[in-house]
Amino acid sequence: MKITFWGAARTVTGSMHHLQVEGKRYLLDCGLYQGRRKDAERINRDLPFDARSIDAVVLSHAHIDHSGNLPSLVRNGFDGPIYTTPPTVDLCQSMLRDTAHIQESDAIFVNKRQQKRHRNGQEPVEPLYTMADAERTLPLLKAVKYHTPQAVGPSIRYQAYDAGHMLGSSSLLLEAEDKRLIFSGDIGRVNLPILRDPEALPKADYLIMESTYGDRLHKDEGQVIDRLAGVINRTAARGGRVIVPAFAVGRTQQLVLVLHELTNQSRIPRIPIFVDSPLAVNVTEAFRKNSDYFDTETRAYLANHGDPFGFHMLTYIREAAESKKLNDLRGPFVVISASGMCEAGRILHHLRNNIEDPRNTILITGFQAENTLGRKLVEKWPEVNIFGEPMRVRAEIDSLLELSGHADQREMLDWLAPISPSLKRIFLVHGEPSAQSALAKRIEERYRIPVAIPARGESFNLQ
Ligand SMILES: [Zn+2]
Repeated sequence: MKITFWGAARTVTGSMHHLQVEGKRYLLDCGLYQGRRKDAERINRDLPFDARSIDAVVLSHAHIDHSGNLPSLVRNGFDGPIYTTPPTVDLCQSMLRDTAHIQESDAIFVNKRQQKRHRNGQEPVEPLYTMADAERTLPLLKAVKYHTPQAVGPSIRYQAYDAGHMLGSSSLLLEAEDKRLIFSGDIGRVNLPILRDPEALPKADYLIMESTYGDRLHKDEGQVIDRLAGVINRTAARGGRVIVPAFAVGRTQQLVLVLHELTNQSRIPRIPIFVDSPLAVNVTEAFRKNSDYFDTETRAYLANHGDPFGFHMLTYIREAAESKKLNDLRGPFVVISASGMCEAGRILHHLRNNIEDPRNTILITGFQAENTLGRKLVEKWPEVNIFGEPMRVRAEIDSLLELSGHADQREMLDWLAPISPSLKRIFLVHGEPSAQSALAKRIEERYRIPVAIPARGESFNLQ
């Protein structure tokens, strides 16, 4: 068995690992690389192998940095099966179409700008992939439940375990040539709303492990629900609006569930809640359909309190015109909108209209990467640029980072315990170099297992 690391190697996006077993070729994940435009363009477009040579793909979860380049693979000639969990199949329907739409609109935008600048000699830009490529990818997705052994090829099979990171997320146990290889996917955390806790995996010979928060410990900032109630009550008392930038997939549904609970318990006033994102609307449907994958607490809650994703104080907004109407609505109310890092999308309009009013609150709910508007808000900059215009930050800025979907260093070390006894080697992926070296050091100290931090394109023979 030979493995080559083609993505999420010393970085956190573009997850893609190439496996060769007895002359057949497989991929674990096929994610979109996100970063500087030029690098992203090259890495996502120029696949480092012939797509037609790949026999099958196993996908760990629906996040775009794990699934988002599957349509490129198909555009380049792949037509084999893509195995993943049933909720992931449903989530990918809307997420891959949404990403295709973004690729097409970006290409149109760039071409228009070139025309304006009379650079007619330049070749028009082609989208990375189109809606048609996404549509051809979706039927290749094959749903396989957790704990169900599935043959991927003549001499390799796998089983998925719940990774507790997002709905349908999995860690994969692969068996080939009498070896057991685990691919962690993204490792989640205990006690996240809606999600089951990460499952314990069995012993294995080799492990490919994520390392996003390899150098960090999450702060215990008290119960999410109490802090959220505090934010809503303070803002409502001022007659203000709570503006929540959130990832459309996962984070939005968790927030809606917690807001439903708070409203039911009369711990917050009955104020309107708007989910302003067409993608969130479609993704919520996939959540509803897969409620048997929720944790026991959430399922019991649904049985007693009805559908939290359709409660009467909640309105989903698809159309841009409806979104604009919120500007004229008097507070208090809550708006949840994407993107989560305030870099694009409708949230920018809400921020522009609300950030200068001290009655309002901007509530940050996830990791904010360097150089993003969200990061500047968390760092409490007094002035920020929105659509190129300087704006004074007068609204209250608060954050609820407990909802992070990634395990921290201690949680990852604990997750590793049941797998560790027979491990010959661990390959760290999906982390910045500083996080990876910190985690590698801790693993070597605690478990005395050799750790490799592969570079992009590096191969290893697993004996
Ligand atoms: Zn993920």
